[in-house]
Parts: sequence; C-alpha cells; structure tokens
Amino acid sequence: MEIFETFFNEIIGFLGISNAFEILQTGDYGKFRTFDGVVSLIYPIIPLLLILELILGLIYKKPDTKVYKVNFLIYVFNRFIGRFIAIAMVTICIGLFQSYAPFQTEMTWYWFIYGYIVWELAHFLYHYWGHKVRLFWCLHSTHHAPENMNLSVTHAHFFLEAPYADIIRTTVCILLGIQPELLFLIMFIDGTYGAFIHIGENVIKDARFGPLNKIILTPSHHRVHHARNPLYMDTNFCNLLNIWDHAFGTYQEEKKEIEIEYGITREMDSGNFLDVYFGEFAALFKDVSRAPGIKNKIMYVFMPPGWSHTGDHKTSKITRAEYFQNNPAYNRAIKVQQPGPINNNIVK
Ligand SMILES: [Zn+2]
Ligand SMILES: [Zn+2]
Repeated sequence: MEIFETFFNEIIGFLGISNAFEILQTGDYGKFRTFDGVVSLIYPIIPLLLILELILGLIYKKPDTKVYKVNFLIYVFNRFIGRFIAIAMVTICIGLFQSYAPFQTEMTWYWFIYGYIVWELAHFLYHYWGHKVRLFWCLHSTHHAPENMNLSVTHAHFFLEAPYADIIRTTVCILLGIQPELLFLIMFIDGTYGAFIHIGENVIKDARFGPLNKIILTPSHHRVHHARNPLYMDTNFCNLLNIWDHAFGTYQEEKKEIEIEYGITREMDSGNFLDVYFGEFAALFKDVSRAPGIKNKIMYVFMPPGWSHTGDHKTSKITRAEYFQNNPAYNRAIKVQQPGPINNNIVK
C-alpha cells in the first residue's frame, strides 16, 4: 500500500494543496489570513489552471498531447533530481556571498521594489546568456522545444538549468544586498507569475491584457519569447517587470498579423523526450568534434547558437538582420532613430 501513499503524496505535492489541506484539517480557518495561509492558497492556482487547460483542450479541440506527454516525463525526471541541486545552489551562494554585500535590505515595501528590480536584472542575465552562449542554450533549449503553448511548458526544463539559473540569480541578488527572506519572497512571486505566463490559448486567447501590456510582461510577451519567427526570436527575456528588455533593446510586442510559431529552429522531434532533453547537447558535440583546431572547438561552446567556424553564421542576430532588411517597417531601431526617408536604407 506504500506505493499508493507515495503516489497520493506526489499528486497532492504537484497540486500544491498539502498546506491548505493541513489548515483545513485543523479547522483553524483564521490561518488562511496569515502569510503562510495566503501562500498555501496561491500555490494550487497554477496546477489547477493546468488541469482546466487540459480539459478545455479536450472540449474545444484535440489537445497537443505530445507536448503534455513529454513535459510530464520531464516533470517526473526533474522532480527527483533538479530541485535538490537547485536548492543546494541557492544555499551555497547565500553562504558564500552574503558577507560581501555592501548593505542589507529590510522587509519594507521600498526595499521590496528595489529587490524586485535587482531580481529582474539577475533573471535577465541568466536568461540572456541562456540564449546567447551555446553551452547554456543546451540547458535552456528544453524549455523552448514545445511547439504549442500551455502551462505544462512551465515544467519543461533540463534538470541542470535551475541550478545554473539560481547560481547567477542568487549571486547577483545577494551581492546587491538582498536579504534571504526578501529573496525567497520574490522567488515565490516570480515562480508563480513565471508559470502563469505560459497559460495556453485554450484558456486565454488574447493575453495582451489591454493597457497592462504596456506596463508589465504579459503572457503575450512570453508567447513572443517562445516563438521562432525571425521578428520574435531572442526578445522579451524578463519575467514580470520588463524594464530590462526596454533598457537593453530586447523588447518586442506581439503583432496581430504575425502569428506565433512555437519551438526552436533546429529540426527536431518535439514528441521525443530524448531529443527534447539532450538534442542540443548532441548537436553541440557533433559541431565540436567536427571543428578544426582547439580554438574553433572552444568557440562552439561559448559563441551564440548558430555560430560556425566556416563563417557561415546562422545566429539569431543575423537572421533578424536579414529579416529587417526585407521588412524594414518592423525594425524598431530604424523607426525610432531614423524616421526620415533618407535614412530608411540603413540597416543596423
Ligand atoms: Zn528563453
Ligand atoms: Zn517560458
């Protein structure tokens, strides 16, 4: 019977209802007004939405079962390995770097705003390098493999990606003075919102949310981030506040006339767990072993995906530049900086 108990606990754990369940059992409903009580009610929102999404998919049309199947396998795999390494990395980074911080925040609203802006910067860095350094792309690409958007994509991560992300995010935040309690609060909000932005079109068709789209990062922005269309590639790296995308010029809105094509540019089988999980490592290994000389081999590991020792680069920067050459109307850089017709032929 132990196996049933384990299975039951896993389901309760996935749904995130164990804490709320405990409070209900004690009968002390006042606890729902405490911080832990509120958290226990927020946790289950995403898993319950995921189930709703799956049901709506079944009602409206056949859901892309391929995506759900592979992401479920990934969830099970990561559940037992990745999570523990990530928690260990956060703890180690706090221990290593806290004493180097020039000051410490407190639990006040203004430090919270400061903390969130710093967190978004740290998130931007981890995420940007995840797209621009081939080795880190191997860790991050699993998340971009699904060719359909739904909440199960939240769980699609290579098991070493969370430790990689947490080393960068924790180190930056701790060195800039964010106290661990504040960091954990921000991580919780970020994790919940970061899951929500993967909500599928079956539940929310137009996820621009009107004027909110101008203020925060909406699921629409994140759908753009998951697209392989040249206009959308390598944009919108932030999570909730997209200030850093605006600051670093990686902001891109969803265009009604350009339908999002989800997935990555490499030819792959998104229904195959091994390809989704290890495909980019295999491709990198192939390129490294074929490359002449040690310098080229190292370049393959650290240059952006698409870099080639032959000079025939297929990086997103080049793909986008070619696209803008043919579609200058979509180039924000030209439109903003050189509005005159004389300069229209300048391509950045
Ligand atoms: Zn990404
Ligand atoms: Zn995502």
